[in-house]
Amino acid sequence: MHPVRDVRIERGMDVEHKMQWFRNRCVEAGLPCTHQRQVLYRALLEAEDHPSPEMLYERVKRDIPSVSLGTVYRNIKTFLDNGLIGEVSLHHGSLRLEANNAPHHHLVCRKCRTMFDLPAEQVEDIRLRQALPNGFRLERFVVEAHGLCATCAAPKARRTFSKLS
Ligand SMILES: [Zn+2]
Ligand SMILES: [Zn+2]
Repeated sequence: MHPVRDVRIERGMDVEHKMQWFRNRCVEAGLPCTHQRQVLYRALLEAEDHPSPEMLYERVKRDIPSVSLGTVYRNIKTFLDNGLIGEVSLHHGSLRLEANNAPHHHLVCRKCRTMFDLPAEQVEDIRLRQALPNGFRLERFVVEAHGLCATCAAPKARRTFSKLS
């Protein structure tokens, strides 16, 4: 079987599994699991770029043309308040969102600001305990590695070419 097809099928199954998790969590939290909320969550599940609320709005609008940016903001806030999604890097100036709730770190492209996930097991344990200020209770830590993504690191000529093709 063609390997690319395998990946798609597996990813598709995975999304349905996660959609079921989302619906269950909505019920637990007493949130109406509306069509709009499901479309929004699915868009975030399928996103691999840690989109901002505005970017998500653009994607959701394709499925629900009547949706407003305000509604998207409100639903995102509800999702965040109930731990249905996560937010990353508030210090980058804009809110960026993700559905990935497994422990992981981030690779950030300093040019285009795209964020990539780095599974937690790819990062060696960091010895933080001795260095903690007195009384600080560590709950979790996130590593953010900065660099250039493949697109931004590519020579300009190649980049122009790949944009045209
Ligand atoms: Zn980049
Ligand atoms: Zn992430």
